[in-house]
Amino acid sequence: MNTFALLKDLIRFNTTNPPGNEGECIKFIDKALREAGFKTSILGKSENKLNLVARLEGTGEAAPFLMQGHVDVVPVDGQQWDNDPFQGIISDDCLWGRGTLDMKGAVAMMMSALMLAKAQGIKPKGDIILAVVCDEEDEGEYGAKYLVDEHPELFLNVKYGIGEIGGFTTYIGNQKLYPIMVSEKQVCTLRVVLKGASGHGSMPIRNGSMHKLGRLLNALNSKRLPVHVTEPALSMIKAMAEVLPFPKNTLLKQLPKPTFTDKVLDILSDNGKIFDSVLHNTVSPNIVRGGNKINVIPPEVELVLDGRILPGLSPEVLINELKEISKIDMDIEITKFIPGPRKVDMGLFSTLSEILIESDKEAKPVPFIVSASTDARYFSKLGIQTYGFTPMLLPKDFKFSELIHAANERIPLKALEFGTDRIFELIKRL
Ligand SMILES: [Zn+2]
Repeated sequence: MNTFALLKDLIRFNTTNPPGNEGECIKFIDKALREAGFKTSILGKSENKLNLVARLEGTGEAAPFLMQGHVDVVPVDGQQWDNDPFQGIISDDCLWGRGTLDMKGAVAMMMSALMLAKAQGIKPKGDIILAVVCDEEDEGEYGAKYLVDEHPELFLNVKYGIGEIGGFTTYIGNQKLYPIMVSEKQVCTLRVVLKGASGHGSMPIRNGSMHKLGRLLNALNSKRLPVHVTEPALSMIKAMAEVLPFPKNTLLKQLPKPTFTDKVLDILSDNGKIFDSVLHNTVSPNIVRGGNKINVIPPEVELVLDGRILPGLSPEVLINELKEISKIDMDIEITKFIPGPRKVDMGLFSTLSEILIESDKEAKPVPFIVSASTDARYFSKLGIQTYGFTPMLLPKDFKFSELIHAANERIPLKALEFGTDRIFELIKRL
């Protein structure tokens, strides 16, 4: 089955999460793989939320390798689409639909490449494990987290894997970069309570809970949290400085010097956004609760912060930084922390780079840290280093970041072919 036909079929399963209902889609994948001669297992804690694990057997000379992808997608509610998001329509040399980029397209590439390897009798040195999971767009509770917690034996001795976010063309000016994700930030949600005197609304009080909230929001709006130059950030910046033209390269070289970091980011403005998030912990104030009666001054106000912590750092570091920059007396509670990968193992990076350069001579692969989080965080608990590697050669006017999770998500047919071919090449080399 070719990648295009496969993806078209996958798009037609409406796996919008919540609730996902990925069960039928997983069973479809299972059938396709079994017909191609693979042994598979379907696993899950609910009939509607299933996962699939399949294996291409290797000679046993090397450690097994993981390819992982999710088949749930985000909602299309309120978005204006030019084509039906669940039909797999072809228009302008692209296959349209929710999930074409995130990430049924990559799942289709992985499946096709594996089936091709099987059909050609290719035996890699290590087994190749394919894990197709549900629930990534939620918390992964039924998907990757479930597999890692309940069936770790399936991933025994796996050292490296590939997953989403990376390996596709990103243009800075005319320079073609191929960022490959090597690490990700860690989710840390904080509940902040600001307290103050209460009283009658007719007699305003200064420096009450609301005013503290104002000062805190002001501090977050006007200052960044302190700079941290982590190992993966440093290699990302160095690699990009090497390939970018003057004056961007000179500016970038100053970026990892903590006294200059924020100044350089200010100069880079929007162009510096990707560096900003890899050099700082961040918090975004997204929910506020406080006051319930117009004539009562509220004794406390609650602010919920979406915090993202750099790899290797802990929530305590974030909390201290928050107190330090705001100088406000407040109670901070960690309501959610999902630890991510701690160390980065660059062992497979050069192989992945070579594979891209072979097909695109102008490709400049660079490592990067994603500010969001993926299922890689769960697999990292088993000691697996995931690389974001869904290879796509994209045209300059194709704006990946504007299409992902958005209206008119689509994938160029040529990119789909490119990705399948490159993953097939990777399988041959493992
Ligand atoms: Zn995704």
